[in-house]
Amino acid sequence: MIHFIGAGPGDPELLTIKGKRLIDEADVIVYAGSLVNPKVLEGAKEGAEIHDSAYMDLDQVIEVMSTAERQGKKVVRVHTGDPAVYGAHREQMDRLDELGIEYDVVPGVSSFLATAAVLKSEYTLPDVSQTVILTRMEGRTPVPPREKLEDLAKHHATMIIFLSAGFMDELSSKLIAGGYEPETPVAVVYKATWPDQRIVRGTLADIAGKVREAGITRTALTVVGWFLGDDYQLSKLYDKNFTTGYRKGLDG
Ligand code: SAH
Repeated sequence: MIHFIGAGPGDPELLTIKGKRLIDEADVIVYAGSLVNPKVLEGAKEGAEIHDSAYMDLDQVIEVMSTAERQGKKVVRVHTGDPAVYGAHREQMDRLDELGIEYDVVPGVSSFLATAAVLKSEYTLPDVSQTVILTRMEGRTPVPPREKLEDLAKHHATMIIFLSAGFMDELSSKLIAGGYEPETPVAVVYKATWPDQRIVRGTLADIAGKVREAGITRTALTVVGWFLGDDYQLSKLYDKNFTTGYRKGLDG
């Protein structure tokens, strides 16, 4: 049984208890060294074999994991955040299926949730946005044509843009072209929950310049929308005139 583990956004204390136990028990660890905080592996057994997948292609990753698994070793594959978000995770699971090797997945705290935490924001404010779009810019790898940033912007939903800190000019002009007002608030969070975390706030009109000035080109998330503003309705959930399954309203 190979365990895929979401390592969380950076702070090693944001690893799940289950993820930590499996890492600490592992004989072979394959981790995404470009993004996973090495501190997440600090509890690994002495003599555990550690591979950085940044230097490996898919065949090599599968080879290392399947060989170890067949030798009866405990194998973990550690991804940043949660493997389900831009983790290139499916292709590994499919290869293990072909090989008849069992695996499971331990979820992690995705960087987009850590970003909300460090911004002390809520993505789904009543009357502002009840929808969250996770996406990325078209860069070296394409995005399906129906998911162009301009088209997604039309919804005025909360937008979380991965893998795109190097293209801030293009990103903001596309969102404005799609109908977001230039004064829409934006935050760029670099390395959320790491010791060198940085937060840059601005609007679609000025964020690209601010991010350039800050020298941020990678490992950052861009979040866009009026959820970053202060204008919203209180939730019905805690409204004293609104009944819920747990709480009766004023007149019973
Ligand atoms: N599976 C990961 C995302 C991997 S894609 C997750 O769930 O978070 C890599 C991209 O994620 C980076 O380019 C950046 O946009 C974002 N990212 C990962 N860790 C981050 C962090 N600590 N702070 C801000 N953005 C982060």
